[in-house]
Amino acid sequence: MSLESFRAETRSWLEGNCPESMRTPMILQEMPGGGKRAKYRNPETKLWLDRCAAMGFTAPTWPKEYGGAALSVEENLILRAEMARINARTPLVGMGLSMIGPALLEYGTEEQKTDHLPKITSGEIWWCQGYSEPNSGSDLASLQTKAVLDGDEYVINGQKVWTSGADNADWIFCLVRTDPDASKHNGITFILFSMDQPGISVKPIKLISGLSPFCETFFEDARASRKNIIGTVNEGWTVAKRLLQYERTMIGGIGGGNQRSTSLQEIAAEYIGLEEGKLADNSLRHKIIQHSMNDCCFGLAVRRNTEESKTTKAPSFVSSMFKLYGTEQNKFRYELMLEAMGSQMLGWEGEGFSAEELGQTRAWLRTKANSIEGGTSEIQLNIIAKRVLGLPD
Ligand SMILES: Cc1cc2nc3c(=O)[nH]c(=O)nc-3n(C[C@H](O)[C@H](O)[C@H](O)COP(=O)(O)OP(=O)(O)OC[C@H]3O[C@@H](n4cnc5c(N)ncnc54)[C@H](O)[C@@H]3O)c2cc1C
Repeated sequence: MSLESFRAETRSWLEGNCPESMRTPMILQEMPGGGKRAKYRNPETKLWLDRCAAMGFTAPTWPKEYGGAALSVEENLILRAEMARINARTPLVGMGLSMIGPALLEYGTEEQKTDHLPKITSGEIWWCQGYSEPNSGSDLASLQTKAVLDGDEYVINGQKVWTSGADNADWIFCLVRTDPDASKHNGITFILFSMDQPGISVKPIKLISGLSPFCETFFEDARASRKNIIGTVNEGWTVAKRLLQYERTMIGGIGGGNQRSTSLQEIAAEYIGLEEGKLADNSLRHKIIQHSMNDCCFGLAVRRNTEESKTTKAPSFVSSMFKLYGTEQNKFRYELMLEAMGSQMLGWEGEGFSAEELGQTRAWLRTKANSIEGGTSEIQLNIIAKRVLGLPD
């Protein structure tokens, strides 16, 4: 099929199948993460998810046998552009699609792919990430959670922390130490197991915002089948690092895209006002133009990288550059929004603030976490220095 026919077909399918309420800006409470415990406040969220999953559009570039649509890079760009044209919400988000799925496609056995990937694309299973521990964050390879083989199962003991969404997750992808005598980067194994078992307890960490987006996760004789080891026993660090590249690419993407700059311009116009068709505040206008230009260049750099890696389809250490830049760009965007909205973006609750304004305050604070999760900015700078620029240790 030519790209033009693909565009026409996709446009017509979207027109006929995307519900009206899914053509409005995403709101936090309707974020479609899927999973067995998902509750859909708006039933059209689930309808849209199911329709997209049936077309393979929740994971457009994945092979059809695992629930994808096997789209080429160009077709995927068309799908995204057509969705943006009608403001269609993303049908499914989460670590299944953006982290463990891509890692499984690369490192999983056929059995593992068949077992897990279709449940990700359909939104049946919600995944969480068991990497960080109380004494192992940036120095992740020092992790201490232990797994000991017992027949065909590993018995797992230890603690993870900052496990996002663990209290709602069905499965976890986890780093465990299987050889305590090996040097720290060796002796780590990458394993998957169900969160729904007696040996696991989670304790949500309550933030000042009142939300609990992440948890402490405790394993006391939790069990994982040997067949769910990804890659080789004791060589899980290789899979772990690759997954982080997928994660960093995803987090970096949060900061890019021209659509976001447009809304920044609109917000500034609404709060500051226009003079002769231009934003009334000269200095802010220049900063917003700079942000838009940076956004555009960043978007093009990401796109060039995607096209260059067409054959491997895998990210590289360059993902650290995208993560660093994308998260800084996102922070800059919200600082400009704050400059435009002034004290209207500093409200926490109560009258005098619209729901959107209260949402912007929280979103602004949340941007601060973007440059910590998935490895801090300082760690990305270390990786760029060593792995991209080739500077000595
Ligand atoms: C919103 C959010 C969600 C998260 N979700 C998850 C999750 O789902 N699963 C999970 O496993 N983890 C998760 N994390 C944890 C995250 O991966 C860690 O917070 C991160 O890797 C940093 O580790 P740390 O917090 O222990 O900080 P530390 O490693 O203690 O770092 C403290 C400070 O020291 C600096 N630093 C440390 N080492 C170096 C160095 N070598 N060179 C220069 N500077 C250095 C850091 O940059 C940082 O500023 C999440 C974190 C956040 C904020």
